[in-house]
Amino acid sequence: MAAHLDVERIKSESRALRGTLHESLKDPTTAAVAEADTVITKFHGIYQQDDRDQREPRREARLEPAYSFMIRVRVPGGVVTPAQWLALDKIAADIANGTLRLTTRQAVQFHGVAKEDLAGLIQRIDAVLMDSLAACGDVNRNVMCHVQPEAGPVHEQALAWSKRLSEHLTPRTTAYREIWIDGEPLEKPVVEEDPIYGKTYLPRKFKAGIAIPPVNDIDIYSQDLGFIAIAEGDQLIGFNLSVGGGMGCSHGDAETFPRLADVIGFLKPDDLLNVAEAVVTIQRDFGNREQRKRARFKYTLEDRGLDWFKAELELRTGIRLEAARPFHFEHNGDRYGWQQWRDGRWQCTLFVENGRLYPQALAPLKPIVSECATDVRLTPNQNLVIAGVEQDDRERVEQALIEGGLVGDRSASAIRRHSMACVALPSCGLAMSEAERYLPDLVGLIEELAERHDIADQPITLRMSGCPNGCSRPYLAEIGLVGRAPGRYNLYLGAAFNGSRLNRLDLDNANEAAILERIDALFAGFVADRQAGEHFGDYLVRSGQVAAVGHGREVNAR
Ligand code: SF4
Repeated sequence: MAAHLDVERIKSESRALRGTLHESLKDPTTAAVAEADTVITKFHGIYQQDDRDQREPRREARLEPAYSFMIRVRVPGGVVTPAQWLALDKIAADIANGTLRLTTRQAVQFHGVAKEDLAGLIQRIDAVLMDSLAACGDVNRNVMCHVQPEAGPVHEQALAWSKRLSEHLTPRTTAYREIWIDGEPLEKPVVEEDPIYGKTYLPRKFKAGIAIPPVNDIDIYSQDLGFIAIAEGDQLIGFNLSVGGGMGCSHGDAETFPRLADVIGFLKPDDLLNVAEAVVTIQRDFGNREQRKRARFKYTLEDRGLDWFKAELELRTGIRLEAARPFHFEHNGDRYGWQQWRDGRWQCTLFVENGRLYPQALAPLKPIVSECATDVRLTPNQNLVIAGVEQDDRERVEQALIEGGLVGDRSASAIRRHSMACVALPSCGLAMSEAERYLPDLVGLIEELAERHDIADQPITLRMSGCPNGCSRPYLAEIGLVGRAPGRYNLYLGAAFNGSRLNRLDLDNANEAAILERIDALFAGFVADRQAGEHFGDYLVRSGQVAAVGHGREVNAR
């Protein structure tokens, strides 16, 4: 988002997210939309981007940048029906760049869509009951939910709540249908003021999710608003409420920092929507609208304090939270391979490197999904679950996966399986360095080090972002890499394997050789000194190689 744009004014004057999109879409003189409309399209799940690899040659040729659009489809809880999956697959081939990008928030993205194809694409996802509304923008985005089956009926209950939460916090505007589905503005459009978001929506993006202990796959501590499911047997009895997590910061700006969410109490399931709405409206009313870099909910909590927040929450809901119930998390990753559901059916979790599904992977998935699965699940770590496979079909699915080369989880090292990168170059306008296109090569070099030190089987979380916004949640990785400039990264170390402790800056603006040298030395120390069952990040802290981070402000302090 261009820094000079007056985002608050654009939102306020947008007539419930209409802006001048009708005119922009009809303008044949450019592949872009009007600059102010780039703010509005985000609320519709659409980012205008340009191919940064082509910027210079096009500038020299006096051509406008190679504009195209990214569309993010909202998938609450990450569950996609076979019909929806087949539609996504076909749209990727027909309209987008042939790939599907699974995101770190269980959504799915199309890249490389031309302006004139946007409406057609959205009509096709609408036909299978999907949408992109509020997948981006200053609103609550895709609601996440744990996808693994161990929790049985508790997962079903949590998933249902994630869908209700998503529906409750979706903007009420009819602009989405009017612009993309119906195609023509109503004679006199009903410009409704949103009952939750008002005219100016939230000061910044807002993220929510539901975790089911002991798995912290959604990285609950990174969410603005989190619900930690508490169960007795197979019955969900309520949620611990967590507030104020967030990843982004700016290089060299101590006023910005990643922050772990605070767990502040327990509530009954029936209070979830009431509490969630109150948290959102508190941020709507008290969030910083003067400085976008300080506009996330985490800064509202930092500036005003948790006691103020709890009092405000109680005032708005009439609910006094009970003391948080005990829980513990073991890891923040996915469990790969086959797992059996309680009813005897199976699911298979596939490793998808950095969430990118190319045509050669999409083709063999089609018959598997349409003939053998009840649904497909998108994980919070950019992986894919083939779900609801009958015992009799398991062998057939297994063979098809092998023939289609879709068993990467079994050949990939433990480090690669725990790696994750954001999109970054060439399409993200904020990227300072490569991420998705580079991480696979860097992982190969780190794998060589791991093999040399005989720790190739050691799971270590490794996450890379092309800028400090941290879309791949790098500050919660045992090894985090955040782009500074082409070929240069900040190296962060020492987060907890279960996502409950942030990492700390170790090398500033380092190149590949310096990063590998540092990791090599730390692997040597880990092998020599680790305790039984100890994870790499915990070792770094225990051994004093990295000072544990107590507060997010310390992440960038060495
Ligand atoms: Fe773009 Fe930065 Fe997010 Fe990566 S972390 S996708 S570079 S905004």
